[in-house]
Amino acid sequence: LEAKEEIEHNSLAVDVMTPRRGDPALTVLTQEGMTVGEVESLIESTRFSGFPVVVSQESQRLVGFVLRRDLLISIDNARKRQDGIVSASQVVFSEHLPPPSPEAPPPLPLRGIMDLSPFTVTDHTPIDITVDIFRKLGLRQCLVTHNGKLLGIITKKDVLKHMAQIANRDPDSILFN
Ligand code: ADP
Repeated sequence: LEAKEEIEHNSLAVDVMTPRRGDPALTVLTQEGMTVGEVESLIESTRFSGFPVVVSQESQRLVGFVLRRDLLISIDNARKRQDGIVSASQVVFSEHLPPPSPEAPPPLPLRGIMDLSPFTVTDHTPIDITVDIFRKLGLRQCLVTHNGKLLGIITKKDVLKHMAQIANRDPDSILFN
């Protein structure tokens, strides 16, 4: 038992987040430059409930978080109701739209569906503090950053799994019920 308590004590956000060491990187959206078609295939090829939005793949600077459900609904609506929205339209989460160009189809602004201040902890945040934040704020997910750079994501289920590993109990019986 002591050993387990110790694990819990020493675990950090970085030990619980996705991706774990050696795993593929997070699936993120960039605030500019992706097309409606690219975003759609990314949604279809994954089952995640949401996606962090970053400034660029190179910088991995966090801009916000967007729910899969909201993306699907907005793109679907725009395709049906907004003039000129096609697969090649650029999806824009940034504040300013690109200047209109005669060659490009109109962009699809989606800043409105993005959570602009998703909850974040740093990689070194002890997991018991992270768990406390999840409980107190009723979070569904939390992002992990290091010096402002996006590193990972922790969902409520990830936290429950981690707690279950430590307590060696049914995840449903701990924490949130
Ligand atoms: P849940 O944990 O409730 O099933 P998700 O379906 O969103 O929620 O996440 C499933 C797993 O994938 C979790 O372990 C989570 O850490 C991870 N995950 C969530 N979103 C992403 C993402 N955008 N990119 C990579 N991994 C993710």
